[in-house]
Amino acid sequence: MTELPFARPENFEHCVACATPGEAHWFVFRGDQLLVEMGPLEVPSDDLRVRARPAWARLPLQKSHDWLAGKALRTLYLGVLNGTQCWAAELPKEAEPPAGMSWEGLRTLFTVLDDAHFALAGRAVQLVDWDRTHQFCGRCGARTEPHPEERVRVCPGCKLSAYPRVAPAVMALVWRGSEILLARSPHFPPGMYSALAGFVEPGESLEQCVEREVGEEVGVRVRNIRYFASQSWPFPHSLMIAFVCDWESGEIRPQEGEIEAANWFKVLQLPKLPSRISIARRLIDAVSAEMRGEKPQ
Ligand SMILES: [Zn+2]
Repeated sequence: MTELPFARPENFEHCVACATPGEAHWFVFRGDQLLVEMGPLEVPSDDLRVRARPAWARLPLQKSHDWLAGKALRTLYLGVLNGTQCWAAELPKEAEPPAGMSWEGLRTLFTVLDDAHFALAGRAVQLVDWDRTHQFCGRCGARTEPHPEERVRVCPGCKLSAYPRVAPAVMALVWRGSEILLARSPHFPPGMYSALAGFVEPGESLEQCVEREVGEEVGVRVRNIRYFASQSWPFPHSLMIAFVCDWESGEIRPQEGEIEAANWFKVLQLPKLPSRISIARRLIDAVSAEMRGEKPQ
C-alpha cells in the first residue's frame, strides 16, 4: 500500500534545535493557511470542499533566516528534509503575503505541492497550533518555556510538561453482504457520504470505540473488527485509525444532530465520496475493490 497523505516523508529527520540556521524550506501559516508561490486556480479538484486547485505550487525556499523580518509570532525548527532545513512560522491573522506569494488551505494544495512538503505542512500546522495554545501552564498559569532538546513546553514553576496533542479517532466501515454502510454528518458538502468516525474516549480500546461509535451513530451492532490502516490528520490534530467490521444486528437509526442520513450502499452504486486526501476514501475504495473481487492495489 502506498503511503497515505501526511505520512512522515522518507529522508526526513525530526529535530528540535538548530545550531546554525541556513537556507530552508519555510512552512509559514496564517491561521490554517499556508504561504506558497502558486499558479492560477484552474485544476479540477476531487475534493467537494475545494473549488479548484492551482496549476502549480511550491514552498518558499529562503537563504536568509530573517526573511520574515521579525514579523513572525513564533518560529519552530522542524528538522531536515534531504539535507535542507525545514522551519515553521506563524504570521498574524491580518498579515499580507509577501510579493509573489499567496495564502492557501492545505486541502487546496493536495496533489499540487510536492508530496513530502505537503506531509510536512500537515506536521507544521499542528506544531504551530500546539505552540500557540500552550504558552501558559494549564495547572498554575505561569508562562511555559520550550525544552531545548525535546518537542515539549515546560512550566518553570510547577514543571508540568505540555507535549503536542494528538487526538485518536476511529473510522469504521461496516460491511453487510454486498453493501457497505455510509453516512453523512450535517457539515459534509451536499451529497457526500463517508464511513463512520468518532473520537476515542479515555478508558476504552480502539475496538470498543468502534463498537460504541457505530452503536451511537447508526444503532447497529458490529463484530469481527479488523484493523485497516492509520493516518495523521491535521484538521486540527487527529490520528485516524481505520477499521473494517461486519454487521451483526440492528437496522439503521441515525443519531439526531450527528448523522443527517445513513444508508446501505451497493459498491457499484456509491454516492459522492471524500477526497483521496483522507483515509476514508482509501478505506472505502479498498473494501469496494475487495467486494467486487478485484485485487487490492
Ligand atoms: Zn505550572
